[in-house]
Amino acid sequence: MLHHERLRPPSHDYPADEWNVIEKAFHPEFLAQLETMLALGNGYLGMRGCPEEGGPNAENSTLINGFYETWPIVYGEEAYGFAKTGQTICNVTDSKIIKLFVDDEPFLLPDANLLRYDRRLNMKSGTLDRELLWETPAGKQVLITSRRLVSFDNRHVAAISYCVTLLNAKAFIVISSEMATNEPSAGIRGDDPRQAKAFSGRVLHPRANYSIERRIVLCHATEKSRLTVACATDHALETSCPHTEKAVHTDDFGQVAFTIEAQPSCPIRLTKYIVYHTSETASAEELCGRAEWTMDRVTRQGFQQLLTAQEQYMDDFWRRSDVRIRDIREDRTNRSTVEIQQAIRFNLFHMLQASARAEDAGVPAKGLTGKAYEGHYFWDAEIYVLPFLTYTSPRIARNLLTFRYKMLPQARVRAKELGHRGAMFPWRTISGEEASAYYAAGTAQYHINADIMYALRKYVQATGDEQFLHEYGAEMLVETARLWLDLGFYSDAKGGKFCINGVTGPDEYNAVVNNNAYTNLMARENLRYAAQTVKSLQTAEPEAYNALVHKTALQPSEVETWIRAAENMYVPYDEKLEIIPQDDSFLDREPWDFQNTPREHYPLLLFYHPLNIYRKQVIKQADVVLAIFLLGDIFSPETKKRNFYFYDPLTTGDSSLSSCVEAIIAAQIGDMDKAIRYGMAALLMDLADVGGNVKDGCHIASMGGTWMTLTYGFGGMRDEDGTLSFWPRRAPEENAILRFPVTYHGQRLEVEISLDKVEYALREGECLVIRHETEEVRLSRENPVAVRPVSRRIPAVNA
Ligand code: BGC
Repeated sequence: MLHHERLRPPSHDYPADEWNVIEKAFHPEFLAQLETMLALGNGYLGMRGCPEEGGPNAENSTLINGFYETWPIVYGEEAYGFAKTGQTICNVTDSKIIKLFVDDEPFLLPDANLLRYDRRLNMKSGTLDRELLWETPAGKQVLITSRRLVSFDNRHVAAISYCVTLLNAKAFIVISSEMATNEPSAGIRGDDPRQAKAFSGRVLHPRANYSIERRIVLCHATEKSRLTVACATDHALETSCPHTEKAVHTDDFGQVAFTIEAQPSCPIRLTKYIVYHTSETASAEELCGRAEWTMDRVTRQGFQQLLTAQEQYMDDFWRRSDVRIRDIREDRTNRSTVEIQQAIRFNLFHMLQASARAEDAGVPAKGLTGKAYEGHYFWDAEIYVLPFLTYTSPRIARNLLTFRYKMLPQARVRAKELGHRGAMFPWRTISGEEASAYYAAGTAQYHINADIMYALRKYVQATGDEQFLHEYGAEMLVETARLWLDLGFYSDAKGGKFCINGVTGPDEYNAVVNNNAYTNLMARENLRYAAQTVKSLQTAEPEAYNALVHKTALQPSEVETWIRAAENMYVPYDEKLEIIPQDDSFLDREPWDFQNTPREHYPLLLFYHPLNIYRKQVIKQADVVLAIFLLGDIFSPETKKRNFYFYDPLTTGDSSLSSCVEAIIAAQIGDMDKAIRYGMAALLMDLADVGGNVKDGCHIASMGGTWMTLTYGFGGMRDEDGTLSFWPRRAPEENAILRFPVTYHGQRLEVEISLDKVEYALREGECLVIRHETEEVRLSRENPVAVRPVSRRIPAVNA
């Protein structure tokens, strides 16, 4: 089921452009959406796309990944093992405010007479650029240009270059550069459980504040999570116009005001440097000191150097990651090639912004573009974002897996708390502790453990990083295998098969079920991979094996128990329908009355009690269909087809994690019409506000899913069996050309697919062996290979 695009702003004000998301007029009705779309971030620090003046805004967040406050979760009715502590990402000091006054007239965006307006998310340089021409009520024309960046190179650093030029008159102007902490959240609060908790009162408590000339440092700490943040700003003013300046600060506020006698055509350029440091352990003094060291360095370097480094970082990113398309048929997509290229880059760019410098942190469901889902990390990162990172920025993928590894001690404690052996990763978290207050759609999603191990396997296969597997991965594998073994049992009622009861699969509209097929299939993979890893360590890496035994108290006999459970795993199958039922009771449920469900009652979760949903045959997001994508090599094309067509009409797509998966399977089974429609829904999830909630933040999982749709779906990429292969699937009448790079074992391959040929070129590296359909393709740097697809057959995979 497809939701329609909700946001189609006038194209003359939002023109298509391959490298920029452009806004040519200020539209207050799109304020919140644009704040999300034009947000900047580097995976550590994020700033929503609010104007420099500080307002107007819908939700003016500056966020630091993993910087959160806790609160006690109060249940009407308590039960043993419920998560106790809520965790919510919180706004840190807003440091990007630059207010402008001309002859004492404040520049206020909604009231200003704007002769020119151009704001753009510049995805080539990694900046947010703005150019305005304001005519004051007194007829003075003021050109205001600004360029904002959140540095990829220096993750603690942001900077704004802000320039004002009077065009036709002289004037007294004031540029007030400000910092504000604990501002009341203008907030978009409603009954939507996906939004973040709104704290009442002060969240950040002052620890230190001071100014030295044009530099201001404010330091605050949270009360309960005991995290400290120091924010420093410093300024450089370049102008030949006479000026004075004044700095003030209080606990929550800082201001450096420049008063300038502006002359016509004489530019006034203010550079604002911004630094954030955060810590769990450092004292306020120490943290302020760190912020100052960083500040000393960046002010010495200057804006231009920060910009050059940003552009180089972006060049490098696009070289590794850019997906290009040409000659798209507009009648099929309802969008021009330029619009589609723009949307592709928008998705890739935001994934970079969500993950690049997420060191010792995860990727929140919304990245750092909004506070919805409380800044929590879910399985989104492992199943939807990590494939992209693994194949384009493997170092970042490694960082994220390392972060999961660091959660292992808490996962062990959580498993114990639930009476299990091994380790149990939290469904949603920042700190590593379970933060899901609704266990049925939270803690019960045990599949997250197998999802993390699946991402690990993909990472190791694509990079060859055995060292990571030995040092960290193996330990997680042992503990998660133990969890599955403990959770499941051999059921007489199911012919002695290994069953897993009382879990929720990815589809949150069918909660706490027995034998969710996705969970069982993924658990089987987890058990097998654990057994295989331990065995190969034992024979080939005795030292690593001994270390593993030491860390986990592994008994040699355990491995056999995992293999037995895996070999006997119960996978539901319905002989009559010849499909995989989503769980033991799914087929018994009464079908949902889709016919009489008004369009505005989606997503169902906002309009129906969970019980009304749980007892019906209705699906929030791809579940079995996701399993047949992730474990594609074990399902025949016929099985894929039957399951896809069975589940497609029952799937609401109420989760943004759904469309991309349906697009991939539709492409794999050759239903190009559906592949394009679902693919477009994923691609435009944020730019066209398909889910209706882009105001709350970008859907980072869908963005990762978009990359997977292009590569695994249309590009026909396969890697489940450990070899990289391509089975490009195209609609025969399409002339489009699709080109994308993948990094595999440190080598960079570029794939270009057009109607009559597929070209493979090794751009970095010496020699790579891949498969095109069933043929082996040997690539060297000098010898690109072009293959003419002999057939448009769907690959014959083993059933
Ligand atoms: C989906 C989950 C997802 C979460 C965060 C929910 O609506 O059902 O699968 O992890 O959003 O994106």
